[in-house]
Amino acid sequence: MSMPGWVVESGQDEGVPNVILFDLDDTLFAHREAVNAGALSVLRQLDVPPSTELEDAEVARWTELEELHYTRYLTGDLDYLGQRRARARDFLAPYGVEFVTDAEAETWFEHYLGHYRDAWDVYPDTMSVLGALADRRLGIITNGELDFQLAKIAATGLAPLFEHVIASGEFGFTKPDARIFHAACAAFGVTPSDAVYIGDRLHTDAIGATNAGLRGIWIDRLGATPADLAEAEASGVSVITSLAELPALLV
Ligand SMILES: [Mg+2]
Repeated sequence: MSMPGWVVESGQDEGVPNVILFDLDDTLFAHREAVNAGALSVLRQLDVPPSTELEDAEVARWTELEELHYTRYLTGDLDYLGQRRARARDFLAPYGVEFVTDAEAETWFEHYLGHYRDAWDVYPDTMSVLGALADRRLGIITNGELDFQLAKIAATGLAPLFEHVIASGEFGFTKPDARIFHAACAAFGVTPSDAVYIGDRLHTDAIGATNAGLRGIWIDRLGATPADLAEAEASGVSVITSLAELPALLV
C-alpha cells in the first residue's frame, strides 16, 4: 500500500515559500535617493544662496511635504494631481512663488519630475537578490498609480522579473488594507499563508501583510528605534536591514 502523496511544483521543497511579493518604493527602487536628487536640482534653480545646510533642510522639507500630501492622496483626501499641486505650492511659498492656476503648479511639478526621473535607480543589492530568487514567483504591491509605478519598473529593468504588479490606484484599496494583499495572492492563485511580503514601512507593509495572513518582513534601511523593533517582534514580523539578508530567510 502506498502512502498518499503530493507533487511539489517547480523544484520547491515543502514549506519553502514560492510566491515572494515586494513593495516598490524604498524597498526595491531607490525612491528616497531619487527624490532627494530631484529636490536638489530644482532648489539650485531657485534664487537660493549656496549652502549645504540650507539645501539639506530644504530637501528634508520637500520629503515632509511628500509624506504629508501623498498620504492625503492615499486616504482619498486629495486626488493624484492634487497632491502634486499641494507639494509644489507648499514648497515654493517661502520663496514668494505663487501658482495662480492649477496648471502652473502641475507644470512646475513636471519640471521636478524630470529631475526625479533622471535619478531613477534600484538599490545596489536589488538585482543580485532578485537573481538569487529567480526560481520563485515574484510580484509587487505598491501604493500609487499603476502607470507611474510601471514606468519606474520598466525604466530600471525590473519588469521582466515580476509576474504581477498590483497598484492601489487601480485596485482601489491601499496597503495596509488586507484586500490588496489578498488580491495579490489571488493573482498568483495562492493562499496568503503561502506568500511572503517585504516592505520598508513597518505598519503599511510588514504588519499590514502579517495581519492579512502573509509572512511579513520589514526591510529597515534607515535604522529602527527600539520601540519599532519591539513592535515588529510583537507583531510576528521578521526584520532585515538589507535585501541581501532575504534569501537566507526564505529557505
Ligand atoms: Mg515603500
